[in-house]
Order: sequence, then structure tokens, then C-alpha cells
Amino acid sequence: MFRLLALTLATVLVSLSSPADAQVRTAFPVERGLSIADFPRLVPLGGSVYAYEALRAPGFTTVSMIVVGSDGVLIADGQESPDATRALLAAVATVTEKPVRWMVVGSVHEDHTGGTEALPANTVLVVHPDGLSQIRSGGRKVETGPRAIGEVKSIDLGDRAVDILFLGRAHTASDLVVRVPDQNLVFMSEVFMNRVFPPMRSAFPKEWEASLQRALELKAHLYIPGHGFVDGPERSREEMQAFRAAITHIRSEARRLRNASPGTVADWGEYASWMLADSQEPIALKRLAALGE
Ligand SMILES: [Zn+2]
Repeated sequence: MFRLLALTLATVLVSLSSPADAQVRTAFPVERGLSIADFPRLVPLGGSVYAYEALRAPGFTTVSMIVVGSDGVLIADGQESPDATRALLAAVATVTEKPVRWMVVGSVHEDHTGGTEALPANTVLVVHPDGLSQIRSGGRKVETGPRAIGEVKSIDLGDRAVDILFLGRAHTASDLVVRVPDQNLVFMSEVFMNRVFPPMRSAFPKEWEASLQRALELKAHLYIPGHGFVDGPERSREEMQAFRAAITHIRSEARRLRNASPGTVADWGEYASWMLADSQEPIALKRLAALGE
């Protein structure tokens, strides 16, 4: 059920930077040559940091990040249910005996917070102030994270610190991202979904583009998505840019359709093949119309 990828970061780097690498850029597991049996899985990112990819309906990954410190483990984003969270905790236990002590709520949505009650009872949840009312804490202690752009809340894990940042409204009004300075990587939560048609039901698309730009300006070595696959460093930056370009295109297409004659058909370009496109296209148009964007 659970497997540790036998890939070191060096292996990932080599395989993804090689021209011979044929890894398809997609969020669909099958197109990457993976099956349900390959999940959940841990992707080592170096320095006792791991990405955890679990599959959820309709078949794409929900990613959590695990950072091991001498005083305990910090998780960035949880999973959708208590069972899925117990599987995450089982994965943590394969790499450290330290207890989970913190969970950063990057996204307040249920698929990232639905299993909170399965976390150790003394786990501290860190949530953007505007997201507090939307989470079920399961009785866990809750601390507020950064509220304003540029504000950073640091968590001391003993031998290392982890920074929590608010880069602006994006997928929701309360997205938080997590930076691991000693590895120069950023867990983006749902601010970045790798090759997933951007779900906009509760999004602020124009500000989302700006948030992605701020993340790129952090010049991280590696960006970890909240959904879709964890790619290598160079590709993760390219995919961040591709995701921002998708939002730009969707916004411009929505504007074009609003000004076009009735019956004009949307041209989503390559984004029509991204995961969730069918279900998310009408939602994006509705949201953009409501926001006047
Ligand atoms: Zn999600």
C-alpha cells in the first residue's frame, strides 16, 4: 500500500533534466505510467523533507509535505479523511520516530483538512486568520498564520525553521505556502496545481496570478504543488509559469466570451486537456463573470 520511492533527489534531478527523459507533463497518473497500486507514495526531496502523493477521486494526487525536525514533524496540508490522514501518518513513521506536532493549513478545503481528527491530539494547526471559520480543528489547538502579504510566521522545529507565508489571495482568500529555507523549496498548496485546470469556485484569479508571481520571485529551487505531481526543480518552475499562464488564458477567454456574440464557443487551447477541465470550465466562467474579471 505504501512505498518509499527508491529515488534520491539526485536521481530525480538527473532523470528530469535529461533530454532523454520522456516523462509526460500531466496530472493523470496513467499517462505517467503509474497505477492506483503505486499510491500513496513518498518522494524524498532531500534534507529530511518529503512530498507525499496520495490519490483521491477522480484520480489525481493530493500532495502533503513532511518536514522532519529535531523537535518533531511539521506537515504542510493534510488529507481528505481520517483514513487518508492515518495513511499519511504511517508514511511519516517510516522515515522518523518523531511525532507530528504542527500542520500548516495551506488550503482550508475539505480535501486537505478532512482528516484533522486523526492527527495526534497535541498537533497545532496554523491557519490564515481569514480561513479560521472554514476548518474543523477536531479539537486541535489552532494558531493564526500570516495575514498580510510579506508577513512571515516562522516555526522552530528544533534544528531547523520553516517559514509560513501569505502571498495574496489565490485559490481561496486564505492560501498559505510553506518555505523550507535550508532546502530552498516552497510547498505551494493549492496556489499551484501541476497540470490541473485551475479550480476557481472560491478563487480570486487576478490576485492568483500575482501570488504565483510573488512565489516565483522567491527564487526557490523547487516548488511543490498541492495537486498533480511533484516534478524536478527546473520543471517545477516551468510548470508554475505554465499554471500562471493557464489562469491568464482563462481570464482572457472569459472576457472574450462575455463580449462575443451569443453561441461563441470557448477556446481553452491546451488547457482543455488538463485534469478537471470539463468540470471546472463552467465554474471558472461563472466566477470570473461574478468578479467582473
Ligand atoms: Zn484541493
